Amino acid sequence: MMEYKEILDEIEKQLEGEAHLDELAKKKQDPFKILISTILSARTRDANTRIATEKLFAKYNTPESIVEANIDEIERLVKSSGFYKVKATRIKEVSKILIEEYNSNVPDNYEELLNLPGVGSKTANCVLVYAFKIPAIPVDTHVHRISNRLGWVKTKNPLKTEVALRNTVPKELWLKLNRLFVRFGQQICLPIRPKCEICPINLECPKDFSMELENRGKKKRSL
Ligand code: SF4
Repeated sequence: MMEYKEILDEIEKQLEGEAHLDELAKKKQDPFKILISTILSARTRDANTRIATEKLFAKYNTPESIVEANIDEIERLVKSSGFYKVKATRIKEVSKILIEEYNSNVPDNYEELLNLPGVGSKTANCVLVYAFKIPAIPVDTHVHRISNRLGWVKTKNPLKTEVALRNTVPKELWLKLNRLFVRFGQQICLPIRPKCEICPINLECPKDFSMELENRGKKKRSL
């Protein structure tokens, strides 16, 4: 049976391009941009997040400038990311708190990040990993789905997946796990019709779809 590291290495060999947050981290963008971009990434595709982030930061790239900007203008700039009214409000609120409580810096610990409005566990962990290179496991829909399919966890929601992964995956792999699984989930282990026939870990994977089938069953029952 392959170890965690071997599986991640095999996946890495097969992937193309970079996910948006990874791109920002590689360009050594500042933690503020990574935090705001992660907030913008909620419930949208990477391509939309990228457009919204770059449009916003071309005009306003500090907490001060965002706080002073007109809310309509922020909404217009981040519109491509969807849910733009809520996101624009969040971005302004977060910027204000960073100025007032953190000397305009982004905190580099989980608890303080979690206290920011609209920042949940996934966003806080993304900031730790992509902005500060602090080992953490951000669990988005890709990480939750793939970890279950691989049989690494047997969990019903992303928070439980995070806890389970922290207990099983060696810490030295945490920094790369989200980065690899996000792209793997976009390119090969797709949410619907995963491309198992070209998957580099096909023979290792138990293909456990029980969590997804259960969720689909629940959705149907609630209709
Ligand atoms: S074999 Fe299929 S289900 Fe398993 S990781 Fe690969 S693409 Fe995903």
